[in-house]
Amino acid sequence: TASNGDEVDRAKQATVESSRFRNKKPTIFSKIIDGTLPADILYEDSKCLAFRDVNPQAPVHFLVIPRFLLPRISQATSEHVQLLGHLLLVARNVAEQQGLTDGYRVVINDGVHGSQSVYHLHVHVLGGRQMSWPPG
Ligand code: C5P
Repeated sequence: TASNGDEVDRAKQATVESSRFRNKKPTIFSKIIDGTLPADILYEDSKCLAFRDVNPQAPVHFLVIPRFLLPRISQATSEHVQLLGHLLLVARNVAEQQGLTDGYRVVINDGVHGSQSVYHLHVHVLGGRQMSWPPG
């Protein structure tokens, strides 16, 4: 039946996904998620949390991270469409809550060239000052 086919597709996808993420390792952000490392949390829900960056690069600098450990944006697949959309909408909502009415910068660093240092996907939101372009 069609529903059996769907189950098979899901199982295949789960296998592909588990092999793709076989090497994923918990990072410092897992400790923020499980509450064993304190953070200045601005927002949280069942899928994600937003907290202030410990080394802020602007008057307002926070990160939005999924609870699910997806190490980096380059490893995202169509499985993550809803999660990725949710992270951006939370970034936008917290930016508004933080009073960033004159705009802000949203950044995702990926891998070596992107200067990613923590391999747990995170959306940076920076605001409260004039940004320049291009970034360094
Ligand atoms: O994008 P990238 O991986 O370089 O950024 C990681 C960010 O996580 C840095 O801005 C760093 O200050 C922040 N961080 C944090 N709390 C920690 C460890 C890192 O806010 N405990």
